[in-house]
Amino acid sequence: MSKLYIVPTPIGNLEDVTLRALRILEDVDLILAEDTRKTGILLRRHKITKKTLSHHKFNEHRFVEKLSDRILNGEVMALVSEAGTPGISDPGYLLIRECIRKQVEVECLPGPTAFIPALVASGLPSDRFVFEGFLPQKKGRQKRLNELKEETRTIILYEAPHRIRKCLHQLMEFFGKDRPACLARELTKIHEQFNRGTLEEILAMLGDSDPKGECIILVGGR
Ligand code: SAM
Repeated sequence: MSKLYIVPTPIGNLEDVTLRALRILEDVDLILAEDTRKTGILLRRHKITKKTLSHHKFNEHRFVEKLSDRILNGEVMALVSEAGTPGISDPGYLLIRECIRKQVEVECLPGPTAFIPALVASGLPSDRFVFEGFLPQKKGRQKRLNELKEETRTIILYEAPHRIRKCLHQLMEFFGKDRPACLARELTKIHEQFNRGTLEEILAMLGDSDPKGECIILVGGR
């Protein structure tokens, strides 16, 4: 049956892949991979010898039309990102939207994504939250922070490690230094770490150097 499967893959620990994800990667005609090298590591580990095709933010615009047509004409494809769930701060949306427009069946498997374990283990309220992904780097950043200042739900932000301290300073400026927060780092990896406290306390925990590895900032609502 022609279909596009969205397949979440591990965010660090290669054991975090479901049995169904592996079966689907084994069964499809083609795997669309954001990073074919990274996906190759996962496939080899599970002895899957499926053809992969590079599909990332720099070429997705060009290929969406062709790929969705191929699926419409009978092929079964799986979309994977470098890590976690495609479409979550990763490519996927354009192809998914085009498949839906053409009435091609789209199925997303449940599986790894970084912000859920970060939220749940942060100790901040997890009943209501807002996922903001990466804040705009320049244009629109101040405006977004101004809007978020009034947000009452837990706010989840993805941020590059070398910008973490700068981002925490900005958050303090907009939300106040006493806002409860959490920095979740290197989830599912050997050096997984959570820094919990106020924004000011977390900055103090980091000292003079930016943290290493992948990071998520969570901020309690107003
Ligand atoms: N698609 C992914 C997902 O489902 O979470 C997100 C990809 S996005 C390009 C990469 C960002 O996700 C990183 O900058 C970091 O903020 C977050 N991230 C991914 N893996 C992580 C990990 N193991 N620990 C902490 N944060 C992680």
